[in-house]
Amino acid sequence: MKLYNTLTKQLDDFKPISDVVKIYTCGPTVYNYQHIGNYASYIYWDLLVRTLKADGFTIRRVLNLTDVGHLTSDGDEGEDKLEKGAAREGKSVYEIADMYSKDFLENFRSLYLTEPDVIAKATDYVEADMKAVSKMTENGFTYETEDGIYYDTSKFENYADFARLDLKGLQAGARVGFNDEKHNVSDFAVWKFIKPGEKHAMRWDYLGRPGYPGWHLECSTIIHEELGEPIDIHTGGIDHIPIHHTNEIAQSFALSGKPLANYWLHANFITVDGEKISKSLGNVYLLSDLKERGFKPLDYKMWVLQGHFQGTRNFTFESLEAAKARRLNWRNRIALCYQKDIKSDDNIYNKVLDALNENLNSAEAFAIIDGATISLEDWKKIDELFGLNLINETPEITEDIKRIISSREAARLEKNWTKSDRLRDELAIKNIAVKDTSDGSVWEYLA
Ligand code: AMP
Ligand code: ZN
Repeated sequence: MKLYNTLTKQLDDFKPISDVVKIYTCGPTVYNYQHIGNYASYIYWDLLVRTLKADGFTIRRVLNLTDVGHLTSDGDEGEDKLEKGAAREGKSVYEIADMYSKDFLENFRSLYLTEPDVIAKATDYVEADMKAVSKMTENGFTYETEDGIYYDTSKFENYADFARLDLKGLQAGARVGFNDEKHNVSDFAVWKFIKPGEKHAMRWDYLGRPGYPGWHLECSTIIHEELGEPIDIHTGGIDHIPIHHTNEIAQSFALSGKPLANYWLHANFITVDGEKISKSLGNVYLLSDLKERGFKPLDYKMWVLQGHFQGTRNFTFESLEAAKARRLNWRNRIALCYQKDIKSDDNIYNKVLDALNENLNSAEAFAIIDGATISLEDWKKIDELFGLNLINETPEITEDIKRIISSREAARLEKNWTKSDRLRDELAIKNIAVKDTSDGSVWEYLA
């Protein structure tokens, strides 16, 4: 399999470290609903997992849920997002984390995304975070300031490499007066102290003072505890490259002296109606908004898979309508397999899989599917490859429905239009239509 690797900045042939491919995905901060853009990347990583499985790999995958420490900026400024959510809704931080974790996981499942082996809540790893900070300190990578323990990025020679950062330029552009205690502008908190009187409900005692972990730390710690570095593949959004992932790599090096991951995959952002997704533009759509407009989460998954994880995508309801129609068309091609003996074109499944093995080119795989003749057996395998739930949603019709179809045929032959129309309506209620083709009549699903 070829994957575009942010680490090497090229298409690399995937070679696993051992028999079990270790994958880590940076998950959501559970302080609010996730919008459709957020789910796009999880859909691409699901395709990654499904493709690797189809290639015969065994996978161990971890996804984290950030329920502490993610500040409103990616740096060390601002409010903890969970505290912000709690204040907004008059709930406790624990209630907020619980509510939005549940919502995220429900949506995750409604998209038929392969369940990770471990779903790791950041708050379950705070003891391990403290051990990690102590270890990094012991190894000489941190220093203490009034508001926390900071990672000294000058101690990690390769700090700038991953994101090709211009550290001199960053240093020159740093705001005067901002956190004078930081040794370098790129240094970041691995642990934050809670000042007397400061409101922060989630707190743990470390070094004799209350505090909480820096946001970037949880991913390094969870990987250290659950997978062991280096892992095979680390995934996230492109916004993670310059700060979050750069800092994860630095921390893991300070912890273990090893690289964090061999392959890094980053999903690009989607826009809505040509604009950045933002509250002020009123274009923040949730999966529930799509459902209200008559779309299934899997129509959205189909839409996402029509594009590439590295490409910029523009979401419109017209394009979602087209993806929905394409999915229905595929289902009705499956329905046709129950009615006629359909044989696949040569090697069709392998051709589809080959396209995915070229840097997850699902758009190309979809084009191959559109242009091919596919048997029921191959549809089953293809469905498994994309997780589109096509087969389950397209069962063979019952004997009862078959009888209605025959009666309608008979009514039409007798030119009894009233009866045939009545039976057509009866079928429509059961979500079935009958289409007359040059090859005789066939039934289809209406939705
Ligand atoms: P947030 O909860 O806003 O921090 O978003 C979580 C993650 O979702 C971000 O770090 C991005 O990687 C991803 N994300 C946010 N907006 C988009 C978007 N418009 N398209 C794709 N991914 C996004
Ligand atoms: Zn992360």
